[in-house]
Amino acid sequence: MSGKKTSKAKLISKGSSKKVGKAKKLSAPAKKLLIPKKSITISKSAKIKAVSAPAAKSKKLKIEDKYLNIFLTQIGGERAIQIVQEFAAPASDEDIAKRCKLKVSEVRAVLNKLHNYGIAVYERSRDESSGWYSYVWKMDMAHASKIAEARVKEDFSVESTQSSIEQGCQFYHCKDCGNASPKIPFETAMDYSFKCPQCGNGLAFYEKKE
Ligand SMILES: [Zn+2]
Repeated sequence: MSGKKTSKAKLISKGSSKKVGKAKKLSAPAKKLLIPKKSITISKSAKIKAVSAPAAKSKKLKIEDKYLNIFLTQIGGERAIQIVQEFAAPASDEDIAKRCKLKVSEVRAVLNKLHNYGIAVYERSRDESSGWYSYVWKMDMAHASKIAEARVKEDFSVESTQSSIEQGCQFYHCKDCGNASPKIPFETAMDYSFKCPQCGNGLAFYEKKE
């Protein structure tokens, strides 16, 4: 055994000392690289698949309502927007978890919170062969927009602003929206994570000019 080992070691040292041996070793990986390149260009079906898959993935539900972003985050947490955006079409919680790279339990928790407001709704269906039930979720965005708008209006109503003034509250406003920005009491600004409900930029402390 020991005799064989030494002979092998000798062979290796011989090869590495020769320049020809090194050159051969280098040329080998270069050839290997050419093979996958060729196979990609040859198979047309593989190319089509590669193009269509990301296109389907990028199809996302757009949240255009200015109040909706903030409202969904308020009720569903920081992952809410990311999850809701995946509902361009009905999907299972497992599908969404895979796409968002989240735990299924995390997705379910957000869906349940949105379900409490009637925004996330599910349909149960039974697989005839396996007997298992599956749940497919979808988003009622028209309903979500209605609630969001009502909530924001309530937050900035004359009564709530008036009572804040009486309480001697500190106010915040959005410099970007300027005169169009409401004066937002501290408590409400905190609910909005100090982000403008109209444009999403940061709210600044509002100093009364007297
Ligand atoms: Zn703003």
